[in-house]
Parts: sequence; structure tokens; C-alpha cells
Amino acid sequence: HEMDVDTIWLNGEFVDWEDATTHVLTHALHYGTGVFEGVRCYDTENGPAIFRWDEHLDRLYDSAKPYELDIGHSHEELSEATLELLRREGLESCYIRPIAYYGYHSLGVSPGDCPTDVAIAAWPWGTYLGEEALENGVDVMVSSWRKHASSQIPTNVKTTGLYVNSMLAGEEARRNGYVEAIVLNKEGNVAEGPGENLFMVNDGEIFTTGPAQSILEGITRDTVITLAEELGYTVHDEAVISRGQLYTADELFFTGSAAEVTPIRKVDNVEIGAGTRGPVTEEIQGAFFDLVERKTDAHDDWFTYV
Ligand code: PMP
Repeated sequence: HEMDVDTIWLNGEFVDWEDATTHVLTHALHYGTGVFEGVRCYDTENGPAIFRWDEHLDRLYDSAKPYELDIGHSHEELSEATLELLRREGLESCYIRPIAYYGYHSLGVSPGDCPTDVAIAAWPWGTYLGEEALENGVDVMVSSWRKHASSQIPTNVKTTGLYVNSMLAGEEARRNGYVEAIVLNKEGNVAEGPGENLFMVNDGEIFTTGPAQSILEGITRDTVITLAEELGYTVHDEAVISRGQLYTADELFFTGSAAEVTPIRKVDNVEIGAGTRGPVTEEIQGAFFDLVERKTDAHDDWFTYV
């Protein structure tokens, strides 16, 4: 395999990468009944450190709740397993993917006696939308696919099944020559990206959509709100953003653990602002990378050193 890692933690044991397999009649494979996280470990000035690990793990347990999925391992156990995995593999800058799902027992939609399987994998992974994108921004398309409302599938938690919508939106965009999509909610207002939250800058103030707009409340979103407020910006964190406002925004950018802080330079081929990374985006992006690389000592409690 291409990831250059030998081990995966699976149900309490470290197993060879090739042996971390599951039965084809796994409940989650058929019905999307898994919950997961995407977390980054940064190779900081003080050594490798996982960024906001506790918040990610808390969200994993929250994600399990609506599905009554018993993760069966404590917060502490999963933290120890992850740190041990990173140490064993000598991973410094990497992406961490914990997942818990209904496993193999019976195939009714009711999970019945299906066990919960839990795995943690980690591998080196560059920025999601590309290094060049961080500097120059990405071209995005407003997807023709709408995001499901939280009354259809909870959108405030991170469930594997939700990502069929993300895949449809993202692939539609890529088929049309764009890098990523923006997804509208049922009301036709902006929700978020397929795997990112969305921020808008107008007249020096910052706007981002909140949980009522059918979003996952991203941990990077929370980080960026905090940093922006520390920089003195007013942040409207439950904004309603209409489709039309996208095109007239001064600046737009995506946030996510994978995407980090990625500027958006065009929507549907319409230039946003000057069609390059805007000054507010650049300032926030700079603050974000200074933080995660520990070039500042603020928020040390957000880091779990390996
Ligand atoms: N929205 C969706 C749909 C996502 O998949 C992600 C990535 N987890 C985000 C937003 C950003 O969340 P975070 O900053 O916690 O990675």
C-alpha cells in the first residue's frame, strides 16, 4: 500500500495494516452506520502534537449517540492507543482517522447484536486541497445537490453515511472542472463544503454559518472563530448566507482539519473580490499556521504532545 505505515489499531490491538479488514456483511458497509473523525498531528517546534485531540474525541462519542453505538473503549484508552500508534510508526506530521461502526452479526437494518468495531489509522497526508490552493485559492461550484436537513439525518455529528452527499457534490464539481463544491441547505441558503465549513468576509467583518443551517460544527471553524476574535474581528457565527451573497463577498474561505484554511478565489467562475487570497483570509491563515506549528505559545492546551 502507498501510505508507508505498518500498523493499525483495531479493537484493542495493533494489527498489521493488511490485516485490518472487515467482513463483507458488516452492518456499516450496508447502511452507513459508522462514526469517525479526521484529526491532524503537526510536527511543531516542540515536537509532534495532535491538534485539539480531546475535542475530536468528544465529537466521536457525540456522533455515536443518535445511533446508540456503544464505542466500548474509554476516551483514555483511545488516546493512549493513538499516541502509541504514532510513536510506533514514528509519525510526526500526519492525519489520524478514528472510526467506530456497527460490525458483522446480522443484516437487518436494526443493528441488533452487531458488535461495535473500533479502529484508529494514521498516515502522512499533505493539505487536502493542495499546497498551491493554500496560497492561490480554489475554484468552487455551487452544487446542484442539497444538503440533508438535520431532521433527515443529524448533520451536527460525523456519520459515515452522510458522506454520500459529500461525494456527490464534490464529484459533480470535479467533473465540471472545479476543485470543490459549496452545498446549499434545503432552504437554498449556504450550508458548507462537502468536508469543510465556509467563511465569508464583508466590510472587515467575518460571517460563518451555524448548526441551524445543517452544518457540522467544525473544530477548525471554532479555532478560526477564536483566532479571528483575538485579532479583533467581529465574527457572526450563526450567519444566514444566501447564494447570491457568495458572489458579492469580499472574501471566502474554507476551514477543516483536512483543508485547514483554504481561500476560495472563484465561485461558479465568478471572481470573489480580486480573485486571489484576500487580506483577511491571509491574516487568519497565517495565525492558524503559526498556532498549529507552535510558533506562538497561545492555546497550548489545544495540543497533545506525542
Ligand atoms: N463539514 C463537514 C461536512 C466535514 O466533513 C468537515 C470535516 N470534518 C468539516 C465541516 C470541518 O470540520 P473540522 O474542522 O472539525 O475538521
